[in-house]
Amino acid sequence: MQQPAGLQQRVPRQYQCPKCAGWNPVPTATDRVACRYCGVSFSWHGDAVQGGRLVHCPLCREPMMYVKKDFPHGWGLAILLAGFVVSTVLWFYFEYIWALAVLVATAAIDALLYVAIGDVTCCYRCGAVFRGFERNEEHGPWDLEIGEKFRHERKQAEAAAAAGDRSASPG
Ligand SMILES: [Zn+2]
Ligand SMILES: [Zn+2]
Repeated sequence: MQQPAGLQQRVPRQYQCPKCAGWNPVPTATDRVACRYCGVSFSWHGDAVQGGRLVHCPLCREPMMYVKKDFPHGWGLAILLAGFVVSTVLWFYFEYIWALAVLVATAAIDALLYVAIGDVTCCYRCGAVFRGFERNEEHGPWDLEIGEKFRHERKQAEAAAAAGDRSASPG
């Protein structure tokens, strides 16, 4: 679903730390950023932003990115569940019309939230999330196959690092 252009531009540009998931402001002129929550620092590649869009991940330069809704995980479900509970209680007291009205209203609120809430762009490789940028049409929704590929690569890198540690300290 397309958003009115003005809506997305009011969102400040932020990145989510891949280590602690804290939201930090996007720097304007620097090549190194430090998370203000956990203190971990990252390289910042300013050339990642072109025409208000992300062409690759500013932290790790990975061009494979995906887009998702800027919506805390589980909120939509929690709202639906709350509506269902209220509706069940009303049904129990024979308030059938109100019970149905609550169900319909809950579904409507969910749909409205979905339209009103903007997108965020996520990096497959490092897991950083970026908010407040224009949608790059080359970035699709989460793809399980690509996600698995990157997860596998991460595991291999971790295993290689662990093997390196063992060979460095014999005994
Ligand atoms: Zn952090
Ligand atoms: Zn990245």
